[in-house]
Order: sequence, then C-alpha cells, then structure tokens
Amino acid sequence: MSSSTATHSVALMYHAIGGAGAADAAQDPHYTVDATRFAAQLDALVRVAGGATCARDWLAAPRRAAVLTFDDGHASNHALAWPALCERGLRADFFVNPGKVGEAGLASWAALREMAASGMSIQSHGWNHRYFTELDDRALREDLRRSRLAIEDRVGAAVTLLAPPGGRMRADLPAVARECGYAHVLGSEPGLLDGADAARALPRMSVTAALDVATLEAWFEGRGIARARLRYGVLGLAKRTLGDRRYERLRERLLGAGDRAR
Ligand SMILES: [Zn+2]
Repeated sequence: MSSSTATHSVALMYHAIGGAGAADAAQDPHYTVDATRFAAQLDALVRVAGGATCARDWLAAPRRAAVLTFDDGHASNHALAWPALCERGLRADFFVNPGKVGEAGLASWAALREMAASGMSIQSHGWNHRYFTELDDRALREDLRRSRLAIEDRVGAAVTLLAPPGGRMRADLPAVARECGYAHVLGSEPGLLDGADAARALPRMSVTAALDVATLEAWFEGRGIARARLRYGVLGLAKRTLGDRRYERLRERLLGAGDRAR
C-alpha cells in the first residue's frame, strides 16, 4: 500500500469517459471526462489516497479511502474506464439500468459480466432511469426489486447498492431500499464519506468534464466540499421551484444543447 496524504474519505461519481472509440449520442458532455484526464485523476488517487476501491468493498471495511462509482452504464465504462482501473489495480461500482442495458452507447450484459469477473461491482441505478420521485410507492418498490433481481440474474453477483437516477430521492428511500433487499443507498448530494450509516444516502462528489486534479486532491483534504454543497443546494432549489422539465430546459440553455441531466 502506498503512503496516503488524504485526511478524508471521498466517493466520486463518474458518468461516461470520452475519447477514441467512445463518441456516441448517449453521452452528456458536461459529465463526460476525457480519458487522458481520467487517467491523471486515477494517478492522483493513487498518490493522495493510496489507490481507490468500490463502495461494495469499502462498506465491508470502512477506512480512509477513495471510492469510485460510475452511473448509467455507458459503453465507455467498459471500453475506457475498466482497462484504466485494471491497469492500476483499482476497483469501482457501476450503477446500471437493466431495462436499458444493450441500448446504443451502453455496456452490454457480456461487458458487465466481464467487469464483474475482474472484481468490479455491478449495482442498481433503477430499472430504466425513471426518477424515483415520479413513482408512487408501489411502482418504486417494483422498480427497486425488479432492477436488483435482473442484474443479479444476468451478472451472477449480489446487488446490494442503489444509486437513484438523477439523485432524485424521497427522504425514506434508504428504508424502502432496505425492504427491497439493498444494504445502502448512494446519493448525488456532495459531501465527505464519514461513515457507513445505512439510514441515510452516502454522499458522492460529482466529477464533471472540467474537474482538474488540484480540485480533486483538495477534496481529500476536506477543501471545496462546502462550495460544492452550496452549488448543489441552489440547483436543487431551482429544480423544486421550476419542476424537473423546466429546469432541464433552463440548464440546456445555460450549458449548451445536448447537455442533459443524469
Ligand atoms: Zn443516471
């Protein structure tokens, strides 16, 4: 184990990785991290945190660490992220939608099985990316059970973690998820990973295309977290005030066409 300068644990939330062979319409440019940048970020995690692990393994033995997660199951997770992780002996959780696996731009079941066989953790991002806040109680429970069982069936490994699509969740989601066979929920609210409390969603720091290594390293010293939380709070208020659809339109206009919320 390399030496570590990190004073805090942080879970990172990635989406697609960009680069040769990864260009496709399913990728949101705001959340697509260039492969060269991604490699530099992994090297930084090795330097400051002594490596990186997946939430599945971290929750089994919480300690100071970097936790890597990917949402949406993009094809680039298999084509670009997975080889870069293996090269460095790192692990990550991949939160996928079983109702969408195999669609253009997304990783296939065969790809996910290959990743799982190498030690990666394949977990649930809901059935087909419908926001949980749009589902009634019965539909939510069905979505949680159905997605977990489908991934377990096709990948052949236990699914214990849930990341709600778009980070949209009701306050009792961790309790409902536990009833549906999950041990933990990973949210999209920024924060430090300061424990493995199953009663609340674990915070994750969102990695966007523009993130630089200095900012990433600062998170592991607890710097820049409050700013990210403030920004998330303001955006959340805009979502609640405008409603999801009007918020997405506003965001598109501010950030550029083709930039969709994940
Ligand atoms: Zn998503």
